[in-house]
Amino acid sequence: DTPLTNDLLDAWDRESFLHPSTAWGQHARGETPTRIVAGGDGAHIEDRDGNRLLDAFAGLYCVNVGYGRTEIADAIAEQAHKLAYYHAYVGHGTEASITLAHMILERAPAHMGKVYFGLGGSDANETNVKLVWYYNNVLGRPEKKKIVSRWRGYHGSGLMTGSLTGLALFHRQFDLPLERILHTTAPHYLRRADRTMSEADFVAACAADLEALIAREGADTIAAFVAEPVLGTGGIVPPPAGYWEAIAPILKRHDILLVADEVVTGFGRLGSMFGSTHYGLEPDLMTIAKGLTSAYAPLSGSIVSKRMAAVLEKGTDEFGPIGHGWTYSAHPLCAAAGVANLKLIDELGLVENARTVGTHLVAGLKDALGHHPHVGEVRGEGMLAAVEFMEDPAAGAFFPAERKVGAKVAAALGSRGVIGRAMPEGDILGFAPPLCLTHEEADTIVAATTAAVNEVL
Ligand code: PLP
Repeated sequence: DTPLTNDLLDAWDRESFLHPSTAWGQHARGETPTRIVAGGDGAHIEDRDGNRLLDAFAGLYCVNVGYGRTEIADAIAEQAHKLAYYHAYVGHGTEASITLAHMILERAPAHMGKVYFGLGGSDANETNVKLVWYYNNVLGRPEKKKIVSRWRGYHGSGLMTGSLTGLALFHRQFDLPLERILHTTAPHYLRRADRTMSEADFVAACAADLEALIAREGADTIAAFVAEPVLGTGGIVPPPAGYWEAIAPILKRHDILLVADEVVTGFGRLGSMFGSTHYGLEPDLMTIAKGLTSAYAPLSGSIVSKRMAAVLEKGTDEFGPIGHGWTYSAHPLCAAAGVANLKLIDELGLVENARTVGTHLVAGLKDALGHHPHVGEVRGEGMLAAVEFMEDPAAGAFFPAERKVGAKVAAALGSRGVIGRAMPEGDILGFAPPLCLTHEEADTIVAATTAAVNEVL
């Protein structure tokens, strides 16, 4: 019955809550703020201190339809009243989970065949690695098990997925990466080692690095290449022109499966339904999460190609039921959220809106900041954008990490009522607003970012 004042919640928080991605000691000592988020509508959230903020990162690039959608809340409530839970083991399903699997495949590239449901992006990537290993066991290739991902890729923070992730922060102190995981070059032209390289030369070098890694390890030991169509948490980096056209044939030639991690890019963020369709990829597996339910409930999925599904089904004919399952796979409340969310994306035309308003946002940021002496690059694709800061762009000089330029700009932006994200590596301010962002809201982001950059730099 104790009234939940802000002070009481703040004290409980510091005493009892280990937050993700947080400096735990500092937070417990009260040196970092607690923000208690209490509500939201459209692209805005509200906290208990009465602040209303434009959330230009859609939570963690996940609230794609925006906050406060009663259609999804009602669908969850209706499902909870009818049937809050039943498992999906041994052929069990619900109207919601079966309908959602069907709706996902209606939207996915035509060669995709089946969906396996999980809870979040990390566990879906974990599932994908197991499916890849199982696939090669069924095919009698027990040595073909290594997985290649990219430096600066992000695929989650479990043991396997933290290993796939190519960011030092997620490896240091955890004895990662695990064996069998290899990393190749991040396709970020701005950070090329040789400043004299053209973009086309850089793409050729990325392809050559991958070829060299495959030659060194032996193609018969490499099972899959896991990659985001656009690098996300590693810095929001759309691939240089021709990158996927150079990489995909190498994978095909060496019989290496392509796992497209579409946790961020899936369901419209790039202005296309999937990153794979956007870049003409033909993945064997696609990882989906975030935008599948717009985070109204936790749900992820592994979309398996028809060709791969046929091998997996043959495997269970031979070895018995698959030894892989989560209690909450295809949870009915989450599936109901997913069905309502995908309908809303269509009804509101959000894929198209991501393209038009996202293009407007990136153009606005380029106009305002493209010539700033400490801006190395303004980039984006669809409703994803980033501004990267450099000490001296012409000389290719980055700021020393201890200057914390990205974090300072993000804080200055926050004090102007707009949430952007200082990406974990480098001085990069990232934007991934809800796909329902309006032109006016995009202009607000640009104006606030310009003021924040000019304050710090
Ligand atoms: N894959 C990508 C591309 C992501 O961006 C993320 C999370 O940001 C994940 C996987 C992990 O998803 P989750 O945090 O839901 O486990």
